[in-house]
Amino acid sequence: MYKLMIETGFSAAHQLRGYKGKCENLHGHNWRVQVFVTSETLNEIDLVIDFHELKQITNEIVSTLDHKMINSVFPFTEKNPSSENIAKWIFDVLKEKLKEKQNNLKVSTVTVWESSTASASYYE
Ligand SMILES: [Zn+2]
Repeated sequence: MYKLMIETGFSAAHQLRGYKGKCENLHGHNWRVQVFVTSETLNEIDLVIDFHELKQITNEIVSTLDHKMINSVFPFTEKNPSSENIAKWIFDVLKEKLKEKQNNLKVSTVTVWESSTASASYYE
């Protein structure tokens, strides 16, 4: 298997609903986002996917959250904007977008770092 990773990020504010503590208050993070994709095969020029293309697609997704109050962006108007839910949301949207483009690869893991020492990952 081949596994590729790209990294990007976004800056945004959020407020955790139902959290008993300071994360209940409005605050921000500079989130780092790591996307891992895997494939058993390579394309006609021996790549899993062009890094630039994967980064561009991921950036399109995270730009919906960049410099926003995440709680006011769907689906986080209903779902808690935890790093766990953000990771799953990026995973789901990316999986859908990549399905249209390439069928050789799978989204393996999306890891969202809300600080340099705390991250949440989603994988299936
Ligand atoms: Zn937070």
